[in-house]
Amino acid sequence: MTRQPRVAVVGAGLAGLTAGLALARRGWRVDLYERSRLLGGKTTSFEVEGHEVDCGQHVVLACCTATLDLIDELGLNDSLYVQPRFEATVLSRKRPPAHLRASSLPAPFHLMAGFARYPFLTTLDRIQVGRALLAARGERAPKGDMAAWLRRHHQGSRAMRAFWDPFLVPALNAPLDRVSAEMGLFVIRTAFLGSSDAARIAYLRVPLVRLAEAAAARFDGVHLRQAVVGVHREGNRVTGVKLSGGTGAACDACVLAVPPRRLSTILDDAPALGIEGLDAFEPMPIVDVHLWYDRPVLGCDFAALLDSPVQWAFEKSPGYVCCSMSAADALVQRPERELVELGRSELAAVLPEAARAKLLRGAATRDPDATFIPSPGVRRPGPATALPNLVIAGAWTDTGWPATIESAVRSGRSAALTLFSNAAGWQNAQGSSGAGAPMEVAHAV
Ligand SMILES: Cc1cc2nc3c(=O)[nH]c(=O)nc-3n(C[C@H](O)[C@H](O)[C@H](O)COP(=O)(O)OP(=O)(O)OC[C@H]3O[C@@H](n4cnc5c(N)ncnc54)[C@H](O)[C@@H]3O)c2cc1C
Repeated sequence: MTRQPRVAVVGAGLAGLTAGLALARRGWRVDLYERSRLLGGKTTSFEVEGHEVDCGQHVVLACCTATLDLIDELGLNDSLYVQPRFEATVLSRKRPPAHLRASSLPAPFHLMAGFARYPFLTTLDRIQVGRALLAARGERAPKGDMAAWLRRHHQGSRAMRAFWDPFLVPALNAPLDRVSAEMGLFVIRTAFLGSSDAARIAYLRVPLVRLAEAAAARFDGVHLRQAVVGVHREGNRVTGVKLSGGTGAACDACVLAVPPRRLSTILDDAPALGIEGLDAFEPMPIVDVHLWYDRPVLGCDFAALLDSPVQWAFEKSPGYVCCSMSAADALVQRPERELVELGRSELAAVLPEAARAKLLRGAATRDPDATFIPSPGVRRPGPATALPNLVIAGAWTDTGWPATIESAVRSGRSAALTLFSNAAGWQNAQGSSGAGAPMEVAHAV
């Protein structure tokens, strides 16, 4: 009887977890290796000041269908909030809170009524934004960066400040002059022009790490604090992973779901395996400031802030506000107390209730490598390598999406599909006995 293959999945972020789940669903035996003590990668949660917080506020949109499927598969649908219709509260220093709401009209007309009432744009701005949206619908393979594309389409400073920057910069986690127009237009088309439902904001109401915990519970072995430093090969096949303690573990196949720089240390001949350009990926930080007040302050679940380094604020429970700062390369090195004060003062400037409330505690979380900039010309590798039983995954790989949760999940699926389709070939070559030479197997935790 042919036994099911044993696969080593390296990296407990959503890419690795999704790949592992897809493989486990087909009966493959999955061993997960993660260098840190926590599951979830960037979507992990940990304790700060006695509260379990996410490493940063994460949201997806209703168009992120692979992520919503994953949440469903992991039984967390009851903890998922999805807006019934796209709506965002927008806060500014000079005006009362405004709302940008979609109507029930089909896309792209669903946004028209919302724009008509949006006070931060003049009538001319609204017309120009509408024209740019329509142009985005038809334009294929635009050249250059997104800021230049918007300038070419006559987007002035008000439209940039009140619409494009608050919605596109957090989605792409980079200033728009560093993002390819192709990726910018992909986001516009997918979120705003695909269907009137696509831009509905969704997030989990439980700590994000619950996703990773639910996925990992379906694997055969979960090896935390186990950094993979290389792979064993025989001919054109991977036969095991090398662990940092000098031990190893045998496998029939391997998914490397780690960021690009880590991948180049695990595979010192990545270009020879068909994985080019790992040094070209430029990381971009995200900083989150967590503020605990003595009372609720936001007046809604979440809001965008104009003219502020805090692009979005989320009141995750009454009085606990998470301030999200994307494209935060100018902030990531600042001391925690400065970041907390920045978050506090920015909220106080736009919310009278936050100015009156007493701040009980504050903390900052930061990830210098939160995402990778989808710069013009950057080439992202797909899941396949020159070795049929070795695949790669990660939000940064070629999924067509910016480096997001959705991209991570899609990459994990593609990696698993690639292994499935290669499996017949390498299993025949290997014989029905399965794994190569036995090695010392890392302990399961
Ligand atoms: C603060 C913050 C906010 C964000 N907000 C959003 C958002 O709102 N919406 C959204 O869609 N996306 C958001 N993102 C991006 C999103 O979290 C990531 O794109 C996605 O989670 C990446 O998943 P991944 O599996 O590709 O990589 P990772 O999550 O980075 O997982 C890689 C894993 O590999 C492990 N690893 C590395 N090297 C080794 C090794 N040698 N051996 C074993 N393990 C190793 C790492 O420890 C890590 O756990 C945000 C990111 C951050 C940091």
